[in-house]
Amino acid sequence: MIQKHVLPTYGRAPITVAKGEGSYLFDTEGRRYVDFCAGIATCSLGHCHPAVVEAVSQQAATLMHCSNLYNIPQQEELAELIVEKAIGIPGRVFFCNSGAEANDGIIKVARRFGHRRPQTDGSPRYEVITFNKSFHGRTLGSMAATGQTKIQVEFDPLLVGFKYVDFNDAEALREAVSEVTCGIMLEAVQGEGGVNPATPEFLREVAALCKEKDLLLMVDEVQCGFARTGAMMGWQAVCPEVQPDLVSCAKGIGGGFPMGCFWVSNRAIDADGTELSSIMGPGSHGSTFGGTPLACATALAVVSEIVEQNLAERACRMGQYIKETVEGWNLPCVETVRGLGLLRGIGLRKGAFSVPEGNTPAAYVNGLCLKAGLLACPAGPDTLRLIPALNVPQEVLDEGLSILKNVLESLS
Ligand SMILES: *Cc1c(COP(=O)(O)O)cnc(C)c1O
Repeated sequence: MIQKHVLPTYGRAPITVAKGEGSYLFDTEGRRYVDFCAGIATCSLGHCHPAVVEAVSQQAATLMHCSNLYNIPQQEELAELIVEKAIGIPGRVFFCNSGAEANDGIIKVARRFGHRRPQTDGSPRYEVITFNKSFHGRTLGSMAATGQTKIQVEFDPLLVGFKYVDFNDAEALREAVSEVTCGIMLEAVQGEGGVNPATPEFLREVAALCKEKDLLLMVDEVQCGFARTGAMMGWQAVCPEVQPDLVSCAKGIGGGFPMGCFWVSNRAIDADGTELSSIMGPGSHGSTFGGTPLACATALAVVSEIVEQNLAERACRMGQYIKETVEGWNLPCVETVRGLGLLRGIGLRKGAFSVPEGNTPAAYVNGLCLKAGLLACPAGPDTLRLIPALNVPQEVLDEGLSILKNVLESLS
């Protein structure tokens, strides 16, 4: 399909999608695909889950949008569920519409925190340390936070106040902290950057460093959150005793409906007991579309289903099954199977097969999978990412894995 009127920012696969059903997508020619991409880890309950369809239809027929000038009961109900059942630490939630927006939000909270807890000379702290190969989004703020130059090409000058260090390198991180640092921001498992999990030791060290230097621990759960990694939140899957100060979410929370949010801890930031969440008062932040009745009712249905069906535990089990199955094939082109829960990356071995010019190994293998009827997703140049719906049926999981096995065997 030639697109004359859509800005060509995406390299799109040569299929046109018509409809979805659970963990299957259908194109306009009627061809069926096993969907291990799930809208890039977004359609957490698969396509057209009855509870989600019901919530959208009901709420759309009642009230879609009314603005944040009025009380919206669905926001309070959803926020309570997020705080109690997902984050598990007292705090408050702000609703927005995407991951990048949620990250911009927590960067703003960190900047304000830097004013309230300034340097010894009274000037504000403002710098957030993030990590190489991280991905935090495409807005000016979240792009500057992203530790990948390819995302930033020709958009400079970038927003100031970020420094990048190698992931899982506690020593380099400690050296990078200075008097202007106010926060450290990370993904529990780097998703777009190649499915690289934080080690429990590293996460523990980051939390300890934050405590020692009065920094905010900022966790980007946009991809890892809401059961994807086998716990309700990614950091809980890596090192559950760690307590973040700020958490950003999007993707899976809406089950395919655009929704994002960020959570701010109620912990005291000074001797007077000022709560961190209290520093964002009236007028400090906003979003016209953030937390509409429709978005909140939908996310409420999605998160309730994730909690009630214990899909975190299921994601943990199914993810282990993927890992063991793929490792059991013993194929020369597979170097590693990384990740947690249903955020899995197959690390392709360099030089094990030839790649046509202009392709990365991951994009090439992803294209072969698509031709064979399996939708996956590259993560960096050498990693094929498998991010199926959290409720992917066992038989569909097996069907997808058998397509993948055929593709990988044809390479070897
Ligand atoms: C996708 C993603 C984002 C950006 O989310 P958008 O909704 O596309 O703005 C941010 N952080 C992580 C970890 C992501 O995976």
